[in-house]
Amino acid sequence: MACKRYLPPNRLAEFLKDIHPDSKKTIGFSVENRSIEMITIGTGSYTILMWSQMHGNESTTTKALFDFIPWFLDSDQELLQAKCTLYIIPQLNPDGSHRYTRQNASNVDLNRDAIALTQPESSLLRRIYEETTPDLCLNLHGQRTIYAAGKGGPSASLSFLAPAANRERTITPARKKAMNLIVGMCKSLAEELPDAIGRYDDTFNPNCVGDSFTQSGTPTILFEAGHVPGDYQREQTRIHILNAYKALFYQLVHGVLDYDLEDYLNVPQNSIEFVDLIISDVNVIEDGIEKRNQKMAIQFRETLENDTIYFYPEMVSYGDTLDVRAHQYTKLPTNLQSTVLEFKSGKLIQNEEINKICSLKTHFKQ
Ligand SMILES: [Zn+2]
Repeated sequence: MACKRYLPPNRLAEFLKDIHPDSKKTIGFSVENRSIEMITIGTGSYTILMWSQMHGNESTTTKALFDFIPWFLDSDQELLQAKCTLYIIPQLNPDGSHRYTRQNASNVDLNRDAIALTQPESSLLRRIYEETTPDLCLNLHGQRTIYAAGKGGPSASLSFLAPAANRERTITPARKKAMNLIVGMCKSLAEELPDAIGRYDDTFNPNCVGDSFTQSGTPTILFEAGHVPGDYQREQTRIHILNAYKALFYQLVHGVLDYDLEDYLNVPQNSIEFVDLIISDVNVIEDGIEKRNQKMAIQFRETLENDTIYFYPEMVSYGDTLDVRAHQYTKLPTNLQSTVLEFKSGKLIQNEEINKICSLKTHFKQ
């Protein structure tokens, strides 16, 4: 099912109607009383709990579930079905998914609510975790376009983390298991994503669900669907995420190798280095001082309007030289070269002129 970036509950419902009634059930409700569904597939003793769209605007890992679930249910995967039972919550935050926000309807980041459990969605996940006592958890997310896979590296098209279990970041048995699975996935994906897989910082934060579950002794893997240059709908990333899911399950069936910690640490750590666009030959007047032929760094802000995501260009910085790299470079078109952008110091701007400049190349909608 082709699907663009916006994946609200009614799009999920279209997918769920093809799932056998015995395999799905409503497990709870959101702040705004939207239902939260869980799919249970497989019959094996090895149990895996996976949840996606805990952040409502991170839909790529959910789209990849639309591909993964039919693959798992295919008769070719009998071995896998016999070995594993999967508990899949495809959209933990339906209110945020409806609004295209990270937070839920109470404006709470559910991935910082693992201890306080102030929200019905967070309490639900904890209850399901306690009821299913999983052998492995997959915490499915999407990341912004700003990350490079290592300093100076390409765009981080996927990222992983084996979260810490304590402040000392000890390599506990649960963490080691998650690290081994991550290294296995990275090796499987090395050909399709050379050097483009990153590793997240492992500073311990027990308010994050992954850290909390790892602390409780359950191997947990954070998946982050990242940016493939040009692929703002993340349909390409969706394929890489699907292949990562398959690579993970291949290991669970055929055996997880015990890699060295060094292999995990060799996955480059994410580094914030990218903006979406750099435009050169821009003239600006800042506080009355004119500067010609500047480079301008632009980041797109995703905004939901009438069920459509628009990518609005916003200026991040400008200068003779910039300390960021861009996914795309362009020169100011000749017909706009007399345009002068005027603004006051210290204020990031987003205005019609920038929209006009960007619209020539990149102002697109889904
Ligand atoms: Zn997230």
